[in-house]
Amino acid sequence: MKDRNIWLEKMKDKESIWIEDCPFCKDEEETLIKKFKYWKLIKNLYPYNWINKHLLLIPYRHIEHTKFLNNKELSELPEIYEFIEKFFKWMNYFSFIRETNWWKSVKHIHYHFLPGILFSNSVEWILKQQHELLKENQKI
Ligand SMILES: [Zn+2]
Repeated sequence: MKDRNIWLEKMKDKESIWIEDCPFCKDEEETLIKKFKYWKLIKNLYPYNWINKHLLLIPYRHIEHTKFLNNKELSELPEIYEFIEKFFKWMNYFSFIRETNWWKSVKHIHYHFLPGILFSNSVEWILKQQHELLKENQKI
């Protein structure tokens, strides 16, 4: 596990990492949990808040959005979710995607899975901050 600040420093002057340098297309710097037929499950090397079991689910194909998943990839998801539930030993976990059509650090789509509970008031706080930023920039 590495300090997330290392990742943030890597990304400092970059808008995004493009396919040529995509860390998810390469097998380097990974902590593989399990390879599936169309997906791989890894531990995030730069986890949020030092959370030890911050997992990333990544299709092998370099695609940027869920809408580009094919039927084979989609059909494997129930088996993967069964595995993830067992991985977290039936304790609660939550997942999210920073899916966007404009900006994210690594464009290769990846689904986050973290142990614990994502409380709705935490989401509201995040959205409030986002709303303030948008207002400041007069984008809404
Ligand atoms: Zn990629």
